[in-house]
Amino acid sequence: MKSSIKICAFLLLLTALSLGSQVYAQQKYDLLLKGGHVIDPKNKISAIRDVAIANGKVVTVAAKIDPAEALKVVDVSGYYVTPGLIDIHVHVYTGTGERNSYAGDNSVYPDGFTFRSGVTTVADAGCAGWRNFEDFKQRIIDRSKTRVLAFINIVGNGMRGGKFEQDLMDMEAKPAADMALRYKDLIIGVKTAHYGGPEWTPVEHAVEAGTMANIPVMVDFGIDHPERPLSELVTKKLRPGDIYTHLYSGLRHEQVESGKVNPALWEGRKRGVIFDVGHGGGSFLWRLAIPAVKEGFLPDSLSTDLHIGSMNSGMKDMLNVMDKFLAMGLSLDEVILRSTWNPAREIRHEELGHLSPGAAADVVVLRVEKGSFGFVDMYGARLKGTQKLDAELTLRDGKVVYDLNGITRPDWNTLPRDYRQTGDARWDAITPAPARRGGG
Ligand SMILES: [Zn+2]
Repeated sequence: MKSSIKICAFLLLLTALSLGSQVYAQQKYDLLLKGGHVIDPKNKISAIRDVAIANGKVVTVAAKIDPAEALKVVDVSGYYVTPGLIDIHVHVYTGTGERNSYAGDNSVYPDGFTFRSGVTTVADAGCAGWRNFEDFKQRIIDRSKTRVLAFINIVGNGMRGGKFEQDLMDMEAKPAADMALRYKDLIIGVKTAHYGGPEWTPVEHAVEAGTMANIPVMVDFGIDHPERPLSELVTKKLRPGDIYTHLYSGLRHEQVESGKVNPALWEGRKRGVIFDVGHGGGSFLWRLAIPAVKEGFLPDSLSTDLHIGSMNSGMKDMLNVMDKFLAMGLSLDEVILRSTWNPAREIRHEELGHLSPGAAADVVVLRVEKGSFGFVDMYGARLKGTQKLDAELTLRDGKVVYDLNGITRPDWNTLPRDYRQTGDARWDAITPAPARRGGG
């Protein structure tokens, strides 16, 4: 009697499994985001579209996709759907235990800060040089769910503080370029930063390394010096494609007496030099940004300069930086362009930052809140605004990695009394059910 029940149960299980796999076989997509307003600047889409995803990739973006073709359908009507945000200026080389160092305590772990603000790719801005890049790689890059890329510092020791960053003897182009060539997929540029002397050596050696490795240079121009003016940097020293970050800091004559943008920046832009926000704790002022934006000098890319100081001061996170540009009158489409496709091109990772068929399904679902908000600069001055972005849902390689209000989740009282994990590993990286025997 007992054994026949067992056989019956076994047959039922077999039937259920085979039915399950039949249903699965009919489903072309693992996940369908239905009814959102897609903004995909690379593909010039800004309209209500469905986004279908399978095997971690975007399959198609179309006006109407049949929900029966998807394993999981998420209603995202009323929200915006954009490529995962790309933040090309962060500091994430933490965990070494070094105090007062961006190769240590001043940096943050990327996964704690990225997905909750819609960011799926970051570029560390020079925390490590060629001497410690491999330590950074094994400590952070290899262990993060966030896609972490890096500008290698021209200083061999990286951003370990003054005595290292002012050492002209440790700014060799060749070993920096060699390391960049060894890790071509990860090292996307060369960084020079924080230099206080009158010499051009850090910039020149960074450009030399960038030329050897065929990658751009990002410049934090350090302390202003009459011997090396900003005008010469952007009109002569940098190559087209090199990046000037901290655009609206006002620390290096980005603005002239009259309140206009330094004409040298316009000239640099004409030459192809890129201008990036790099907000940080001390690099963004309303009195620079507002007149510059009015004059039409918009940044090519928005970025945070995320570190332990900036995140709790005016900067906060990538979405807050984007909010600031909405508050200055840019459209959401203009802001998304500067947080997705533009930065992808700047770091020459053109496989990222868009929702073309075949692209990695790094996707964010954004909500625009309307209300009364305030946005603060580096000296604590506020600009009021009426819109605020929130990340509802973040996907990395087609899997949910962040879901603010549980829009992908069933209501608890619709589930069996003894419910367990509700997700499926084909679309969920948070609470997927344990893999079935023999199945994915
Ligand atoms: Zn920085």
